[in-house]
Amino acid sequence: MNAPFLPFALPEIGDDEIAEVVDTLRSGWITTGPKAKRFEAEFAAFLAAGGHARADALHCVAVNSATAGLHLALEALGIGPGDEVITTTHTFTATAEVVRYLGADVRLVDIDPATLNLDPQAVEAAIGPRTRAIVPVHYAGLAADMAAIVAIAQRHALKVVEDAAHALPASCGGALVGTLASDAAVFSFYANKTITTGEGGMLVTRDAALARRARVMRLHGMNRDAFDRFTAKVPSWYYEIVAPGFKYNLTDIAAALGLQQLKKAWRFQQQRQAIAERYDEAFAGLPLLTPPRAPAGQTHAWHLYAIRLADAAPVARDAFIERLFAAGIGASVHYIPLHLQPYWRDRYRLEPAQFPHSQRAFERTASLPIYTRMADADVQRVIGAVRTALLA
Ligand SMILES: *Cc1c(COP(=O)(O)O)cnc(C)c1O
Repeated sequence: MNAPFLPFALPEIGDDEIAEVVDTLRSGWITTGPKAKRFEAEFAAFLAAGGHARADALHCVAVNSATAGLHLALEALGIGPGDEVITTTHTFTATAEVVRYLGADVRLVDIDPATLNLDPQAVEAAIGPRTRAIVPVHYAGLAADMAAIVAIAQRHALKVVEDAAHALPASCGGALVGTLASDAAVFSFYANKTITTGEGGMLVTRDAALARRARVMRLHGMNRDAFDRFTAKVPSWYYEIVAPGFKYNLTDIAAALGLQQLKKAWRFQQQRQAIAERYDEAFAGLPLLTPPRAPAGQTHAWHLYAIRLADAAPVARDAFIERLFAAGIGASVHYIPLHLQPYWRDRYRLEPAQFPHSQRAFERTASLPIYTRMADADVQRVIGAVRTALLA
């Protein structure tokens, strides 16, 4: 086997990103400043171009991770000790850990086996007197059933914060995630996400008070950020601390990457979708289930391409991934459900039998490489390796 190892994920960083970062480095302003502010404005314009929100109605708060953004959104909504937040067990721990930062409790629920997204019926069944919020995850970049989730939230007077880490750009009912009827949506720009700033995130909300609180808590609980401090009329040295805030601001170095990546977000999405279509076609007839498509006319962000092995597959999931690695192909599993992780399992005494769909998906799922730097030959290699791995 002579071909080099094909990693599971790789960012696409071009000369535009490099030039923008160098410009920032030479400018003398490397932490949160003019580029972070511009990134927020351009992010709002990107979402507004979807046609379902005006840019000036979308408050975008740049942060140094999606985890930080989820924490800030729930903090601003007043989630605290004694409260309960419902989310999916089929996610990364960041979705749930932020609830524990605030001293509230997490109520994990099972997924819809067709989409691997939070099951609205399971959400409704889990609502109790302490429930305050629902955190849906748009798994793999396919939007969760937001119409159903928002309707449930309205019926029970609950808040909705979308974990949109996979969902740039994704749409639901014709509108881009980030412009839906939730309290906030939080995107991730981690290295393997659909656009990247190395580390970074964006909290998006229509709620001006939520945005104001998040901006204050993003930077130590100061009543204005560093950029305003050096440009506004009030004395440059003056600030007030109104709360014990966090250090969650996005640097201008990272924002420089984000400004250039955002311009390519639709081209990236089209390239990932084209790979997904080639996989779908090539895998027809193999003993596996290809991932669900978005409904007609909707956008799937295709952050992940997760296949599920059929019962008739001649190999188990772990052996399947080993065979791919042996063929020089990186693969992964999304996710080891939270109910299997020692912290969550032990704290809430969780059993796999409570989450049959997530458990079964976990046991059968493998995520294949899907990123813009893959050449046609790379896609063909993955297809060949999957076929070979599924020969008895
Ligand atoms: C990546 C990811 C996060 C965390 O994003 P960071 O920017 O790394 O904090 C949260 N939720 C999900 C579902 C993710 O995939």
